Amino acid sequence: MAKPILIVGGGPAGLAAAHSLATFGQACILVDKEDRLGGAPILEGYAKLVPSGEWAKDAIGGMVDRVAEHELVDVRKETKVTEFSGEAGDFTAVLSSGDSVGVSAAILCTGFSHFDSANKPEWGFGTFPDVVTTSQVEQMISSGQGVRCPSDGRKPQRVAILLCVGSRDRQIGREWCSKICCTVSANMAMEIREELPDCHVYIYYMDIRTYGLYETKYYWKSQEEFKVKYIKARIAEVTSDGEKLIVKGEDTLVKRPITIPFDLVVHAIGMDPNVDNPDISAIFGVDLETHGYIDKASSYSATGLTNKNGVFVAGAAIGPETIDDSIAQGKAAAMAVLEQRQLAARLVS
Ligand SMILES: Cc1cc2nc3c(=O)[nH]c(=O)nc-3n(C[C@H](O)[C@H](O)[C@H](O)COP(=O)(O)OP(=O)(O)OC[C@H]3O[C@@H](n4cnc5c(N)ncnc54)[C@H](O)[C@@H]3O)c2cc1C
Ligand code: SF4
Repeated sequence: MAKPILIVGGGPAGLAAAHSLATFGQACILVDKEDRLGGAPILEGYAKLVPSGEWAKDAIGGMVDRVAEHELVDVRKETKVTEFSGEAGDFTAVLSSGDSVGVSAAILCTGFSHFDSANKPEWGFGTFPDVVTTSQVEQMISSGQGVRCPSDGRKPQRVAILLCVGSRDRQIGREWCSKICCTVSANMAMEIREELPDCHVYIYYMDIRTYGLYETKYYWKSQEEFKVKYIKARIAEVTSDGEKLIVKGEDTLVKRPITIPFDLVVHAIGMDPNVDNPDISAIFGVDLETHGYIDKASSYSATGLTNKNGVFVAGAAIGPETIDDSIAQGKAAAMAVLEQRQLAARLVS
C-alpha cells in the first residue's frame, strides 16, 4: 500500500483533502495543533455561515465527524510537525508527540490568523468593553446568548459595524482585502435586526465587496428588507462620552464630518497570514509570498503546488479565502497529489 499522505491543519481545507483522499482508498495522517478539528469556524464559534445559512457546528461539525470516523484517516490532535525531510514520495515527518512518520507527500492546510484588533487602538478595541469583533458577535449568536453589550448585558439599540479592520490598511501593513467580511457583516447586520427589530444597524464602509451573487442576497437584501444603513466613511476614532460610544469620521460621499453615538461597535476583522508561517516555511522548505502567506504556483496546470516538490497547499494558508473555496482547494490538492503519484508511477514503469 502507498505511504500515507500528511495533511497539516484540520480546518475546512484539510478536512476536505482528507475526506477526498480516504474516499479514493488513500491513507492519511491529519495533524492539527489544537485539541479540536474544524478550523476557524469551530474554534472561533462561528454562527450561521454565508452563503449556505447552515450553523457552523452542523456544517463543519459534519465534515469533522466523517473524517474522524474514517478508518483511513489517522487524526493527531494537539500535534505539530517539527521536522520534515526527504523527497517527493519518501518524506519523514517528525511530530511534536515524538513520533516519526514516513509519508509520500504533504498538504499544508494551516489556514490564517484572525487580525488582532488591538493593532487598531484608535478604533476603541481593548479600551471600551462594548467595542467587539465579528468573531465575538458570532460567538454571542452561536451560544444562544444573543447580541448584547458586554459591559452590562443590555440589548443594544444602536450598532455600528466597521468594515476593513485589519484589511486594506497600508498604515498597518495589511494591503489585502479579506474577501468575505463585507458579506459576513451584511449577514450579521440582518441577524441583529431579526433578533432585535428595534435596533438600528449601521455599516461603515470604504467600498462594498459583496462580490458575485452575494450582492443581491446580502447587500441589497440587508438594505431593502432589513433596513440596515450603509455609510461610506473614513473613520477617525471611536471614543466614549461616558454613556455611549462615539464613532467619529468623515462621510466621504457628502464630504462632511460625522459623529454618531452607538451602544455596540463591531470590528469586521480581517484574515492575517497564520502566525506560524515563518516556522512552517522553514520546516517544509516552502516559500512565503510578499504578505506572509504560503506561496503557491500560479499556473492553472499546477493547482495547489508549492516551490517544494511533493508539498502542496490549500485554503486560507495561501491568502484570504472563503470556506467554499477552501474546501474546493483541499479537494483539488488531494487530486493533485494523486495525479503526481500516477505520473511518477508511469515514468518508472
Ligand atoms: C469573523 C469571520 C467569519 C467568517 N465567516 C465565514 C462564512 O460565514 N463563510 C465563509 O465562507 N467564510 C467565512 N470566514 C472565512 C473562513 O474562516 C475561512 O474561509 C476558513 O476557515 C478557511 O479554512 P482553512 O481550512 O483554510 O483554514 P482554518 O479554518 O484557519 O484552519 C486551519 C487549521 O490548521 C491548524 N493549524 C494552523 N497552524 C498549524 C500548525 N502549525 N500545525 C498544525 N496545525 C495548524 C489550525 O488549528 C486550524 O485547525 C470567516 C472569517 C472570519 C474572520
Ligand atoms: S471584504 Fe469588505 S470588509 Fe473585508 S477587507 Fe474586503 S472590502 Fe474590507
